[in-house]
Amino acid sequence: MKNEDVMPNSPRQVRSGLPLIICAPSGAGKTTLTSRLRQEFPLHFSVSCTTRPPRPGEVDGRDYYFLDRESFLAQRSRGMFAEWAEVHGNFYGTPLKPLRERLARGEDMLFDIDVQGAAQLALTLPEARFVFIFPPSLAELEARLRKRGADTEESILLRMTNARSEIRQSHWFDAWIVNDKLDKAYDELRAFYLSSTLGPALRPGIIHTILNGA
Ligand code: 5GP
Repeated sequence: MKNEDVMPNSPRQVRSGLPLIICAPSGAGKTTLTSRLRQEFPLHFSVSCTTRPPRPGEVDGRDYYFLDRESFLAQRSRGMFAEWAEVHGNFYGTPLKPLRERLARGEDMLFDIDVQGAAQLALTLPEARFVFIFPPSLAELEARLRKRGADTEESILLRMTNARSEIRQSHWFDAWIVNDKLDKAYDELRAFYLSSTLGPALRPGIIHTILNGA
């Protein structure tokens, strides 16, 4: 056996993709921050399935796959989701096949899911990194949800209850970001993503290249 064959940082080692999971209470600014990250880096967004009806401007297959309840439950029972959860009275699930295929091809993926789903992925994707984004305060969160004008009063109250619950469950995440100033929060998210890609497992071939030339 040649030396190279046992070298842990061999060029033949395949880089797997990094799963980056981002959770935040609804209205904390997660969509703005993740869109910015996706503009800057080639991160593939995991498009979830949901039974929630589309909001104005949302596109099927880009923002979500919009399914009726029956189809969602059928896919769930066939084991087609890597995780699923009921959030604000609707079902949401992460399709398993694209996740497996993209990560195996070495593509980094971004998941915008709730805390219950994140906890499920923590069990099945040990290499995943988890970020929780906080609003500066609950009062500010409520003000943002009202300003957005996308939800009914009932839905706003439900989202506030869920926000308190998600914040209480955020202790195990790898990174906490408070979105009080957008640029600062983005710098922190960007730094966390970049630092997460620096481990030897995600940089195959570096030792070989340095020792042997390109
Ligand atoms: P919204 O209806 O506002 O788009 O999303 C509501 C919540 O569902 C957000 O916290 C979002 O992150 C979460 N969510 C979206 N897709 C998924 C998914 O595939 N799985 C889980 N567990 N949560 C999801």
